[in-house]
Amino acid sequence: MNTNETTMLPLDPGPHARGGRGMDRRAVLVLLGSGVAAGALAACGGAQQAEAKSYPVQYSEAEWKRRLTPEQFRILRKAGTERAGSSPLDKEKRKGTFVCAADDHPLFSSTTKFDSHTGWPSFWKPLAGAVGTSTDYAIGVPRTEVHCARCGGHLGHVFDDGPRPTGKRYCMNGAAMKFVPA
Ligand SMILES: [Zn+2]
Repeated sequence: MNTNETTMLPLDPGPHARGGRGMDRRAVLVLLGSGVAAGALAACGGAQQAEAKSYPVQYSEAEWKRRLTPEQFRILRKAGTERAGSSPLDKEKRKGTFVCAADDHPLFSSTTKFDSHTGWPSFWKPLAGAVGTSTDYAIGVPRTEVHCARCGGHLGHVFDDGPRPTGKRYCMNGAAMKFVPA
């Protein structure tokens, strides 16, 4: 987690940053750096880092395609984003655990879920050791990408505008998770 990124995040009004004044400045800085580098960063997205690292659960791309639905594959393996409000997990209010849709790895407890009014399931804290983070440049500005610590599957992003006690907002794709009632 770099400090620049942390200071940028409060400017972001939405779960998947559209950019404010600060974002624009950063985007300009990226463009001034090197056209080639900026292009390469934009193309990387969040999926590449997941494939580059080694995780306890690993399959070939073809095997992941067989194991996941097209929507799950697009999000978990290609760092896609579901349409806001499209997941029934956004409205899930029962007690239980949200697990990774790819490998059932427990990610979030219902006790840390809150309604962020974004249309994406939101939490203020993951379970201990459940997720990893990395910086992605998929939209040209740095964001903190969140992935399953076990399979590396992309789950969403984390922002600094969440509620107490952590102040974090884990903005998750419901399609990347399954809910297991307590
Ligand atoms: Zn997983």
